[in-house]
Amino acid sequence: MHNDIEKILVSEAEIDTICKEMGKQLSNDYKDSTPIFLGLLKGCVPFMAALTKHVTIYMEQLYMAVSSYHGGIKSSGDVKIKYDLEVSVKGRDIIIVEDIVDTGATLKTISALLYHRGAKSVKVATLLDKPAGRLVEFTADYVGKVIPKEFVVGFGLDYNELYRNLPYVGVLKPSVYQK
Ligand code: 5GP
Repeated sequence: MHNDIEKILVSEAEIDTICKEMGKQLSNDYKDSTPIFLGLLKGCVPFMAALTKHVTIYMEQLYMAVSSYHGGIKSSGDVKIKYDLEVSVKGRDIIIVEDIVDTGATLKTISALLYHRGAKSVKVATLLDKPAGRLVEFTADYVGKVIPKEFVVGFGLDYNELYRNLPYVGVLKPSVYQK
């Protein structure tokens, strides 16, 4: 599997540092609240685990599954909810935990939906941000690392469901998806 990676963009050590700093920042910013960390499945799983280890305040962890890719390497821009929340978010502070922001369509749609359902605040914590990929206006509140407009895999990010278990984030060799 490691042989399919052309280059590493965010190393394991760098991910650790990002999670430590972001966890500290969130613990401070939300010290007077009991926020909901809302992970977007499946990509958020390693980041959620690594980040929340460093969160020192009371918090809840919930998940939704949304998809905009449907396999392949380009976003369809059409956001579908595959697994929804089973509890109310009314009056709650929400931090959406996401692996990457690309076109911005997923986060813009889900943030609006949560406000519509009565959330008090909705912020976004993302491991990676690809601002050059934006198709809709969207700014994440907590960003681990800004990366160029490349298709990346690892640390939760997949290509056709593979590579989520890589401990780092890397760029696939073009030969892998040209097959
Ligand atoms: P957006 O709605 O901002 O275009 O995309 C958000 C979702 O698209 C992410 O949660 C992720 O699932 C997927 N995505 C965007 N860029 C990449 C990428 O470079 N690699 C992978 N594996 N998924 C991506």
